[in-house]
Amino acid sequence: MNRAIFLDRDGVINIDNPQFTYTIEGFSFNEGIFEALKLFQSKGFIFVIITNQSGIARKIYEHKEVAILHDYMLNEFANHGIKISEIYYCPHLPQVSNCLCRKPDSISLEKAIARFNIDAASSYFIGDRQRDADAAIKVGVKPILIEENTNLNEIIHLIV
Ligand SMILES: [Mg+2]
Ligand SMILES: [Zn+2]
Repeated sequence: MNRAIFLDRDGVINIDNPQFTYTIEGFSFNEGIFEALKLFQSKGFIFVIITNQSGIARKIYEHKEVAILHDYMLNEFANHGIKISEIYYCPHLPQVSNCLCRKPDSISLEKAIARFNIDAASSYFIGDRQRDADAAIKVGVKPILIEENTNLNEIIHLIV
């Protein structure tokens, strides 16, 4: 089975913007992200990104813009030798459309666990909101709750 590190996106991988992040110009990787993920990868972890993108339900941006941004993000990771197994994003907002994929719900984690044969008990979820931790706990993944935009090198000791 695989050990995984689940990652929230905004505030963990990139600088959180309260006005939403949906363009390459508006996207900045957090300091330390490449070094930390390279280290985790060298220890055998795979990576899955689980992100709420309610800006779609709010009609601030569309799936197409998310796809372009995620292509860019994955390409930057690949340039640093980092493989992201999958990105699951929830485009919904409870007031607009109910769903089970918005954190703190855990359907996206469950899908990833099944698809990538992940051992939940030896996996982690790094997030900057309580809803990230709540989703992790539902499926038996260990939550690591950080302040937004923390340099992940500061929390490496919690995992390896
Ligand atoms: Mg976040
Ligand atoms: Zn959803």
